[in-house]
Amino acid sequence: MIDILQELCKITDKDYISNNQEELYLYGRDPGLMPPHEPDYVVMPSTVDEIQAIVRLANREKIPIIPKGGGLSLTGLVIPQKGGILLDMKRMGKILEVNESAGYVIVEGGTTHGALKSYLLKNYPHLRHSIPDSPPITTITANAVIHGQGRLTQQHGFNSDMVCGLEVVLPTGEKCKIGSCAVSTYWFSKGPPLPDLSSLFFGWFGTTGIITKLALRLYPCKKIRDAMLFLTDEAELVPEIMRKLGRTEMVEDLVVTAQPIPLRFRGNYYILFYITGDTEEELDFKKKMAWRALWEYFERREGGFVSLPPEMKAPMLAMPSKDTTRFADVSKGGGFEYSGPIAPLEKYPAYVKKLAELANKYDLFYSSAARMIDGGHCMMFSFSYTFNRADPDTMKRAKQALDEAADFALENGGVMWKPNIDEQQMTMAKMDPETLNLMMKIKHLLDPNGIMNPGNWEVSR
Ligand SMILES: Cc1cc2nc3c(=O)[nH]c(=O)nc-3n(C[C@H](O)[C@H](O)[C@H](O)COP(=O)(O)OP(=O)(O)OC[C@H]3O[C@@H](n4cnc5c(N)ncnc54)[C@H](O)[C@@H]3O)c2cc1C
Repeated sequence: MIDILQELCKITDKDYISNNQEELYLYGRDPGLMPPHEPDYVVMPSTVDEIQAIVRLANREKIPIIPKGGGLSLTGLVIPQKGGILLDMKRMGKILEVNESAGYVIVEGGTTHGALKSYLLKNYPHLRHSIPDSPPITTITANAVIHGQGRLTQQHGFNSDMVCGLEVVLPTGEKCKIGSCAVSTYWFSKGPPLPDLSSLFFGWFGTTGIITKLALRLYPCKKIRDAMLFLTDEAELVPEIMRKLGRTEMVEDLVVTAQPIPLRFRGNYYILFYITGDTEEELDFKKKMAWRALWEYFERREGGFVSLPPEMKAPMLAMPSKDTTRFADVSKGGGFEYSGPIAPLEKYPAYVKKLAELANKYDLFYSSAARMIDGGHCMMFSFSYTFNRADPDTMKRAKQALDEAADFALENGGVMWKPNIDEQQMTMAKMDPETLNLMMKIKHLLDPNGIMNPGNWEVSR
C-alpha cells in the first residue's frame, strides 16, 4: 500500500505537512455548531504546481481533499466530513497585480481580506474592495466561493459578482483559466462576452475545484464616509424603508439590526447606512436625499434619525465592524452561529418575528443583521444565536433553533446562504428535481471520483 505521507513529502516541504494529533484535532472543527471530524493529513502548499500534484495524488488514490481559507464560515464547510487531506491555503497569500486603469487586483487563492485592505491602503489609497465584516484572516477566495457580502454589496451585488477572473485546479488536476484571462493577458471579465464558467466554482463549497488565483474588482475609495442611523419600532415598515433608501442610489451599505439587549434595542429596528463622497458638498447632497426619502416616516412619528456622537460613530465606520465578533461574547462561552437566508426584503417582518420566537422557545440570546443587496433586489438575513462552547445543552438548543429557522426560511421564500450539510439537504429536498439532477451531473463530470470536500452538496447521506 502506498504511504500517503511519504508521497506528500515528495510534493511539499515536509515542515508544512502533518498528521500529528494536535493538528488533526484543530483542523477537525470550526467555531460553529457542526460536529467535528478530523482530517488524516494537513498540508500547506505554496505553489500551484504543488496543488496540482496533491490533487492528482488524491484523485488517483480516491482520498478526500478539502480546501480551507480562514475557516470562519461557521457552518462546518471546512470540516473534513470523510477525513482525507485538508489543504490549508495560508501560504498562497500573494497579491500578484493591480491593474489601476481597469480597476482590478489579482490575488492568490489564500490571500486574506486583511492583507488586501492593508496593501491597498498603503499603495493605492484611492482604491478599495468590498470588505465583509468577518475577521481580517478570512480569505477573499473563500468569501467569494460562499457568495459572501461586504461593504459594497449594496451597490455592486454579492462579492462573487465582483470577481473578474479565476485560475482553478480541477478535481482531476488540470489547471484552467476562467474569463477574459483564458484568452487575453487582462483579467477584466469572468465571463462576458465568453460563456461565464465561474458559476461552476461559486456556491459549490470547494466541491468542484480549487481556486488558485482570483481577480477582484476594485472601486473608488471615496475620501469621506459617514454613518447614519434611522430607528423604527415597526418591523412591517423596514422593507419599505430599505427599498426607499436603496432607490435613492445614494447609499453605500445598509444593515438593519434587531436584538433584545441592551434594553434600549428591544423592540426597535436599527437601520444603519453609510454615505460616502469626495467632497463635503457631495456628502451633504446624498444625506439630504436620504433624509428626504425617510421624511414621511418622521412626520407620521413612525421613526426618526438617531444622533451619533463621534465615539459611537467610530466603531460603526471601522471596516470590518467588530460588532458581530462582540456578539459572540454576549453570553458566557463565546460561541455564536448564524444561518442566513437570502430573500426578498418583504420577508423581513416574518423572519424577525420567527428569530425572537425561536430564541424564546429554546431560551437563547439572539441577534439579526439584514444586509441589503444590490439596491434592494434582495437581502441577507441572519438568524444568529449565541451558545456556550463548554455546554453541550446550549449548543444543542442553538442547533435546533437554527434548523427550525432554516426550515422556516426555506418555506418562506428564502434560499439558505452558506448552508451547513443539514441545510444543504433541506435545500436539495425542496429543489426542482431536474435542476438538482443537472447540478449532480455537473459535479460528477468535474469530480468523477467524488474527492472534493465530500459530504457537501451530496444527494444521499
Ligand atoms: C464575526 C464574523 C462576521 C462575519 N461577517 C460576514 C460578513 O459581513 N459578510 C460575509 O460574507 N461573511 C461574514 N462572515 C462569515 C465568513 O467568516 C466570511 O464569509 C468569510 O469570508 C469566509 O471566509 P473563510 O476564509 O473563513 O472561509 P472558509 O470557512 O475557510 O471556507 C469557506 C468555503 O470555501 C471553500 N474554499 C476555501 N478556499 C478555497 C479555494 N481556494 N478554492 C475553492 N474553495 C475554497 C472551503 O472549502 C469552504 O467550503 C462573518 C463571520 C464572522 C465570524
